[in-house]
Amino acid sequence: MAILLKFIKFKGKGCRLSRFLLMDATMTAQIIDGKALAEELRQSFKARVETLTAKGHKPGLVVILVGEDPASQVYVKNKVNGCLAIGMHSEKIVYEKDVAQQVVLDKIAELNADPAIHGILVQLPLPKHFDEEKVLEAISAEKDVDGFHAENVGALSQGAPRFIPCTPYGVMKMFEKGSVDLAGQEAVVIGRSNIVGKPMAMLLINAGATVTVCHSKTRDLKFHTQRADIVVAAVGKPKFVKGDMIKPGAVVIDVGINRLPDGKLCGDVDYADCLEVAGQITPVPGGVGPMTITMLLANTIEAAERKAGIR
Ligand code: NAD
Repeated sequence: MAILLKFIKFKGKGCRLSRFLLMDATMTAQIIDGKALAEELRQSFKARVETLTAKGHKPGLVVILVGEDPASQVYVKNKVNGCLAIGMHSEKIVYEKDVAQQVVLDKIAELNADPAIHGILVQLPLPKHFDEEKVLEAISAEKDVDGFHAENVGALSQGAPRFIPCTPYGVMKMFEKGSVDLAGQEAVVIGRSNIVGKPMAMLLINAGATVTVCHSKTRDLKFHTQRADIVVAAVGKPKFVKGDMIKPGAVVIDVGINRLPDGKLCGDVDYADCLEVAGQITPVPGGVGPMTITMLLANTIEAAERKAGIR
């Protein structure tokens, strides 16, 4: 077995220490393949969709898009196509960017009352003249497949979620796939957004981890990440988490999706730098990204199953 003397520098507050770690030179982190897991899950959803369809409850998702943001258009297309590929019903409703908020609210009210629709999603961000919170709260909590409605946020924080926000839900599935036992683990979530950071922290707490949420005001981020068994990065800064920020053997989950000047995608984790330090790691692309839409499909199927009384 080849042995590598690996030199890792730690820069602390007011001090700088270095240490050597003995590592197996062939040892790199196990990669948690989100693309493969997403595909596996989507295949498994087909039977549930068939059962529901046979019972007259074909799962239906409507995605509302306001404006012409190119990234949002791609996301919406992928969501709709993801549904159609496994036999679900899905449609998108597109409004001009200057549409009145009331028009969208009226459409949401109509969809709330439509028995063929189990999930309603409003693609964010909305144009500036919209009150985002008001729009999200207008979606029936029973059809809020994004899990952003206050009622669903409350249910999650009470440990009895109805809909789990798709990205952190996908991360939990990845822990499952990687056989990561979360109970008693030290977990650090970097980022405190309503979409990722906060629900992620809540899910980790519910799973028995000891959770620290770090954010832009955190004084010494490295202090927290270096002692974590699990690091979830949801920062929005390319290659932000470096190898010397993580504990050898830690599970590193990269939620970030950043576009580099050369057009390539990269995460919030410096993958090459962390690969030999982490125990398990998710790549970008092909990590958390494909799981997010997959869990949107899961949430819509779950909604239909509840409606059909089989969940
Ligand atoms: P956000 O901008 O709402 O939140 C970013 C968070 O990072 C904030 O809470 C902020 O406090 C924190 N932060 C910023 N600078 C920091 C610093 N120097 N140190 C510590 N914390 C810092 O972003 P978001 O919506 O949570 O998304 C985060 C990333 O995840 C983005 O790259 C986004 O594109 C990506 N994302 C991916 C998916 C997916 O499906 N994979 C889904 C949602 C978001």
